[in-house]
Amino acid sequence: MRLQKVLAKAGVASRRAAEEMIEAGRVEVDGRIVTEQGMRVDPKTAVVRVDGTRVMIQEELVHLALNKPRGWQSTMSDDLGRPCVGDIVAERIAAGQRLFHVGRLDADTEGLLLLTNDGDLAHRLMHPSFEVSKTYMATVSGIVLRGVGKELKAGVELEDGPAKVDSFSIVDVGEGSTLVKVVLHEGRKHIVRRLLEAVGHPVIRLVRTDIGPVSLGDQRPGTLRVIGRDEVGKLY
Ligand code: URA
Repeated sequence: MRLQKVLAKAGVASRRAAEEMIEAGRVEVDGRIVTEQGMRVDPKTAVVRVDGTRVMIQEELVHLALNKPRGWQSTMSDDLGRPCVGDIVAERIAAGQRLFHVGRLDADTEGLLLLTNDGDLAHRLMHPSFEVSKTYMATVSGIVLRGVGKELKAGVELEDGPAKVDSFSIVDVGEGSTLVKVVLHEGRKHIVRRLLEAVGHPVIRLVRTDIGPVSLGDQRPGTLRVIGRDEVGKLY
């Protein structure tokens, strides 16, 4: 296996970041610093170190679905000591293992967050060219009229450029609020909140229910589940 792939699979970094580490002379294989890219190593026998620390090459890939509770940061640690996803996963991961969160949810947004030790996959899923669709259930202020869906599908001008949804439906109408379902490929910051605000319906509650083939289902907030082989296969 190529060295940068071994590093990505071991959860050290994405493949691209691993290439930078190699170039910077931070990576050692069997006692020798390697700076050329693409060196082939046997993950079963090679002793790989980054900055002198042994990299445990796990062939076993981990893919988890988390239902992030409202108010929690999406990050693995938080400098300000706020509750974060890292607190929930801490007891589920082996010492030295690194998990990446695939994209982020705002602290106020709940729902599906994917976590994996496959740095390469995490990187690819976050890249705009990898068109994974995301589904959100949003409770918005006001009674949403049918024309709003058309407007959002046609595209709305935001301060950082145009954005649109793939599909939009009204699920339930309450007193002064509406529950809507939004599907989009976009990953820009606060994108769902900004889109809905732009059409006059600020978000009251936002829950991500699906990322591509992976669904939240009835998973409870704050819990993790191992993503099944079938779902994982479709992510690659
Ligand atoms: N869009 C948002 O506005 N917030 C999120 O957390 C995700 C998508």
